[in-house]
Order: sequence, then C-alpha cells, then structure tokens
Amino acid sequence: MKTINKFDFNNKKAIVRVDFNVPIEKENVTDNSRILAAKTTIDKIISDGGSCILMSHLGRPKGFDNNLSMSKIHSEVERVLNTKVILSKDVIGDDAINKANNLLSGEILLLENLRFHKEETDGDVGFAKKLSTLADCYVNDAFGTAHRAHASTTIIAQYFDNKFFGSLLEKEVKSIEKVMQSGEKPVLAILGGAKISSKIPIINNIIDVVDHIIIGGGMSFTFIKALGGKIGSSICEDEMISTALEILAGAKEKNVKIHLPSDVVCAKEFSNDAETKNFDIHNIPDDYEGMDAGKNSIEAFRKVVLDSKTILWNGPVGVFEFSNFSKGTKELGNLVAESTANGAFSLVGGGDSVAAVKKFGLQDKVSYVSTGGGAMLESLEGKILPGISALTN
Ligand code: AMP
Repeated sequence: MKTINKFDFNNKKAIVRVDFNVPIEKENVTDNSRILAAKTTIDKIISDGGSCILMSHLGRPKGFDNNLSMSKIHSEVERVLNTKVILSKDVIGDDAINKANNLLSGEILLLENLRFHKEETDGDVGFAKKLSTLADCYVNDAFGTAHRAHASTTIIAQYFDNKFFGSLLEKEVKSIEKVMQSGEKPVLAILGGAKISSKIPIINNIIDVVDHIIIGGGMSFTFIKALGGKIGSSICEDEMISTALEILAGAKEKNVKIHLPSDVVCAKEFSNDAETKNFDIHNIPDDYEGMDAGKNSIEAFRKVVLDSKTILWNGPVGVFEFSNFSKGTKELGNLVAESTANGAFSLVGGGDSVAAVKKFGLQDKVSYVSTGGGAMLESLEGKILPGISALTN
C-alpha cells in the first residue's frame, strides 16, 4: 500500500479526493466530521511544503445547483483546517486552472462540486484527465466513495505515477484487514438491522473468518420463524426463511457459533410511546412485535462479546432511534467498549450502527468507526473497491 507517509510533498501539488459530502441545514454544516477526518492528510502535505487541491462532491446535484455549491461549506472547511482556503468557481474551467497554476506551497485550493459535471459519476476519461492536469500527484482519502468508479475516485489515478492512499483511506482499509485477514481469535461479528436480505453477502463472506456471530434486531425474527418460533407481528422476510436455515446449517458445518436473542421487548405498535412487554422470542403473541433485545439476551451476549479479541459490529439490535427501544443496542455498545478496553480490536461500520455508537457517545471507546457506509458494506462483502484497486494497479 503506497501511503502518503513515505512521500515528501515538498514543492508538489497534490490533488486530493476528499469526502466533504457533509449535511447542511439552514446554511450551516451540522456535522463536520468528514472534513475533520481529512485533516491529517491535508496537514501532512502542507507541512511537507506541498500544496493541496481538494476535490469532493456535495449532495446529488443534477447540473449546477447553488444550494450544493462548495461556497456553502467553504467557511466550515477553513474553520476545521484552521487556515485560509482558496475557492474556485468551477471544477475544470478557467478559474480552477488559473488558481491551480498559481497555487503556492502551503496553500489549499477547494474545487467546486465535482458532481456539477455529470462526467464525474459517468467515470468520464476526458474529465478525469483534465482534473489530473491540475496537479503532480494524486491522493485518495475518500473512503465513502471508494466503491464508485467515478472520474475523481478511480479513473483519474491512471494519469499519475505518484498516487497514494490518504491516511483516512489507509486507516479504513487496515481496519477491515485487521478483522477479515489478521483478526486475533476469537473473532465475533455482531449483525443487526432490519433485513436479513441486505446482510446475506456479508454473512457469506465473513463466515470463513469469524468464530461467533450475534444476530440481533429485525433480522433475527426471520431466523426465529425459520426455527419454528412464533414471532407475532415482528418484521420478517418470509422469502428468506430457507436462506436463514442454510446460513444456520453452513455455520454449524464451519464450526461458527450463531447466537440469537432469547427474549425481546415488544410493543403493539411501531411507536416510541407504545406500551412495552417482554416475551420469550419464540413465543410472541400475534398482536405484538419485537422492538429491542431483551435483558436475558444481552446477558447471554455479554460473555461472547467480552471473550472476543476481534469484533465487527454492523447494525443495531433494536429500533434504537426510539429511546424506549434503544436499551439493547446501547448495552451491547457498552459491552463492545468494555471488550475494547480489555484489549479487543473493534470495528463499527456500515450505516446505522455508526449512528448508534455516535448517539450513545461510544465512538472513542471502540477501536475504529468507519466513515463509509456503502464502501464499508461492499468491503465486508469481500468486494475489491475500484477506488482502492486504482491506487494499487
Ligand atoms: P439496516 O440498515 O439493515 O442495518 O437496519 C437498521 C434499521 O433496523 C434501524 O433503523 C433499526 O430501527 C431497524 N431495526 C432494528 N431492529 C428492529 C426491529 N426489531 N424491528 C424493526 N426494525 C428494526
């Protein structure tokens, strides 16, 4: 892996693909963590005496859209990077070319939203080539878009001899490798979330590397029904029942232990204010649906989590967005944090489990929280991400 650490950027102009696709509400950036996540890479290039041309997408514009202009995040980028940032009015037009040509060592230029050009998502070769002429070397630090073969994430790399993994991209890839390739045993995967169908490729890929899988949340009910349980009106994918049985049989064959919840906090309606009642997960009355992992389930999961040396967590074990049904996910998060404090490596990635750890303030108590939703899921499915292979080929 060619990382930025071993390269001297002195007097070099680096074009850096970052993921500044941050949420904006009423003209304010409401979560700047993606900007902050790129700071290490930018700081390294600048402190070497190089200059940075930052490029990112923002939202999903169809052509120019003033609400999604980089001017909306410019001041927040300057605030987070703690330095002046030059903004160009276009991506590959005269303004970008002039500002890139005149960029001095130590300066940072932010290009306009890449997706104002449809050529970006088309992976257009001409567009990628034009972008490449702005700089002498290329750094990809946008894990969140590494699963897309877009012009700035993948196609551009072929025009550079000097192309590097930014430090965020490096951390993401190494965290996944630490689980999937070199995880100290016992290795545990905690899989939750609404649907088993969206997790099947992950299960099929991780089954060869894990020793234990905890299955929680909405997806557990398909397994319980497959095993003959009465799940009431809980979420269930009937068409996945045979798949669930195949997963259980495959795990047994490979000596992977699957842990399902034993009890569940239920409600008569999908609402935070609904009255709650606990049931054995195999015996839920018809008019109740399972909403959160019960006390006995968490107690049983405790030992598995604390005994594990490597933990991957993808998906909440209940409807954690509702405060009255967030306890199971929160307690499981606390156990992952405790296991991490005891020396386990823990990776939280892919969608809602990331939101859950942030909600419960656990992001600094696990080893790594991935910044990429889709990219993380595809990595866990065993796919080679185009943005990553473009840097290595
Ligand atoms: P996913 O994107 O597949 O990881 O699913 C995450 C979603 O699963 C979250 O919005 C949770 O509210 C939801 N979820 C977790 N447990 C349940 C459940 N028992 N019933 C319905 N939805 C659930």
